[in-house]
Amino acid sequence: MTQKIAILPGDGIGKEIVAEAVKVIEFLKADGVLDVELNEAPVGGAGYDADGEPLPAATLALCKESDAILLGAVGGPQYESLPREKRPEKGLLGLRSELELFSNLRPAILYPQLADASSLKPEIVSGLDIMIVRELTGGIYFGQPREITEKDGERYAYNTAGYKESEIERIGRSAFEIAMKRDKRVCSVDKANVLEVSELWREVMENVAKDYPEVELSHMYVDNAAMQLVKWPKQFDVMVTSNLFGDVLSDCAAMLTGSIGMLPSASLDSNGRGMYEPIHGSAPDIAGKGIANPLATILSISMMLRYSLNNEAVAQRIDDAVGKVLDQGLRTPDIMSEGCTEVGTAAMGDAVVEALKA
Ligand code: NAD
Repeated sequence: MTQKIAILPGDGIGKEIVAEAVKVIEFLKADGVLDVELNEAPVGGAGYDADGEPLPAATLALCKESDAILLGAVGGPQYESLPREKRPEKGLLGLRSELELFSNLRPAILYPQLADASSLKPEIVSGLDIMIVRELTGGIYFGQPREITEKDGERYAYNTAGYKESEIERIGRSAFEIAMKRDKRVCSVDKANVLEVSELWREVMENVAKDYPEVELSHMYVDNAAMQLVKWPKQFDVMVTSNLFGDVLSDCAAMLTGSIGMLPSASLDSNGRGMYEPIHGSAPDIAGKGIANPLATILSISMMLRYSLNNEAVAQRIDDAVGKVLDQGLRTPDIMSEGCTEVGTAAMGDAVVEALKA
């Protein structure tokens, strides 16, 4: 059956990098290994320009009837003075909440060819492949009550960090399902020595683990997890954690690789429908110059095939093609190093398509 992909290029370099990912999809369609229908719609600043809203109703409707969504990036200086509810980021937040995308997958992968890009020693990070699964729609970012008020004659502010058992269970299941497609190890990160919410988190993770006897579950306090990520990151396979801890740890893990132009991400609902996007933003400083790295977006397609469209073989083919292109020494300026050949956005996309043919 034909699967539907919504294509949302967004703003800035979003349009340039998504065009390269579409090239890859069109090649795989022509090659007969993908049966997908692509439908493009505006979001973010582009949504505001087209329809006065960062998430136009037609874009949301298209996403709701699609099996997966590919997003470029949103935002730009020209939109920063808009009222908050009209700003591009609202388009992203709207999609996450409307589609109930509660499971945020943030891989930190370092191709051995790019080990020099990391600020850590090559032997610590070369070949790194971690998947951080962050709960995205609950926890302290959304907990009520929250306010800045007064107490004992001075200003006082507080937030509420809470998780329902069902919320912990569904992110736990998401992490274990992903581990089943990888090295079958889950490390659950919490602060159970101090927080009640973490105590429940740990208990529910233990219960979920009973349904996945092949997967090894371990627990780690978040302070230790931060240290271990920098000390010996290759010890981790899948890491599952709450919204707040995941926010911090996933950025830390991303930076282990030293190249944000290489990292894809996914946000999934409980049925495996997902939105796939590079972790970087719209990079207004290089937009329109044809030099943005499209590989994070191309790798978002391979994540989409793996986690929403159930096509591991083609996902692996894309990953291998990206590896081949790096082996050939082709680099966009952000990952350029001595002895390599500098190429622009379109040439990099073309090279991946050529590598897919081989
Ligand atoms: P950014 O990720 O856009 O850029 C940070 C730096 O990385 C810039 O120097 C940029 O040139 C470079 N860079 C990013 N992606 C690259 C790529 N593919 N190839 C080569 N270099 C790349 O972050 P920022 O500058 O803080 O934000 C710019 C805009 O993007 C803002 O409006 C921000 O709100 C938005 N933003 C959007 C998302 C998203 O859509 N998910 C995420 C982060 C930021």
